[in-house]
Amino acid sequence: MTTVHHQEVVQLLKQIIEPILKNDIVSLGMVRNLRIVDDYIYLRLYIGSHQHQLQPEIQSKLSSLSWCKKTYIQICTIPGVKITLAISSGKGGVGKSTTAVNIAAALKLQGAKVGLLDADIYGPNVPQMLGLGQADIQVINTPTGDKFLPLEVQGIKIMSVGLLAEPNRPLAWRGPVLHKIITQFLQDVEWGELDYLLIDLPPGTGDAQITIIQESPICGVILVTTPQQVAVADVRRNIYMFRQVGVPVLGIIENMSYLICSDCGLRTPIFGSGGGEQLAAELQAPLLGQIPIDSRICSGSDTGNPIAISEYTSPAKEVFTQIATSLNTTFTFLLF
Ligand code: ADP
Repeated sequence: MTTVHHQEVVQLLKQIIEPILKNDIVSLGMVRNLRIVDDYIYLRLYIGSHQHQLQPEIQSKLSSLSWCKKTYIQICTIPGVKITLAISSGKGGVGKSTTAVNIAAALKLQGAKVGLLDADIYGPNVPQMLGLGQADIQVINTPTGDKFLPLEVQGIKIMSVGLLAEPNRPLAWRGPVLHKIITQFLQDVEWGELDYLLIDLPPGTGDAQITIIQESPICGVILVTTPQQVAVADVRRNIYMFRQVGVPVLGIIENMSYLICSDCGLRTPIFGSGGGEQLAAELQAPLLGQIPIDSRICSGSDTGNPIAISEYTSPAKEVFTQIATSLNTTFTFLLF
């Protein structure tokens, strides 16, 4: 009976369309942890700060079920944040943080209010990529309790697990401690009003990643890979992990796709070509961009000047700009 009821609930929830994204709330990954116990429905609703009208709509829709005594909805949101996106990768070193920082910078340049949460416990290097040294995180008192105050650089609000660690020491958090720190980072940062919060996830599919995905209202994930990595199982595992918890995969970015000859402009795919397109087709996720190898990306990261906002034009900068434009088109209401 419970299975039948479960199916009935899902059918009804699928009739509720998120008006801006024009898709149903189940496909958008907004409904999670759906349970039916003794004719009571329990669910978690993961929404942005502008989507609270969905709660009464769900209540009203499910009230049509004759057997349902009551629906309990737990709202999961990050205060002030409209769109939460995760940047993920199958393994480290493929340019995930570089991509996160540059997309954040490109979005900022296009007028969005952007925050970047560096949750990469294995290599929290976002602060360095934005030119932040070891800074003290301030805690402020708010009506909803004590909150961390994010740092701000290049107009982007930053919070990083790296800022909590001692310099040059690995973060050795495990199990419940890790869980607590991550959920604190998601709930206890005073972001203010943000259009986008980008979360730079740790690479892979371990406890830390799953906790972040389950605890945060992620609207979609962008997967970063390199041509050498595309055929590798952990990229697929990564995508399946998101799909399993119901988080939509917005697309794939292939980094270090080709090298451009500085004399003749010829593009050489030194790590092979076509892999990103193949992976995108196989996993039915769009290829959002192919970023060239460019020493200025590397030097920009070292000096805290992301290429996406550097003064000169370059093919890499163009790709980041295009990705930001396409995100703004997907979430078009933010600009108005
Ligand atoms: P991850 O977050 O996946 O571990 P990082 O973003 O830290 O990877 O990048 C690893 C290194 O590769 C950094 O030194 C970064 O500057 C460099 N890098 C990333 N993408 C490029 C690129 N397209 N061209 C040149 N260097 C890059």
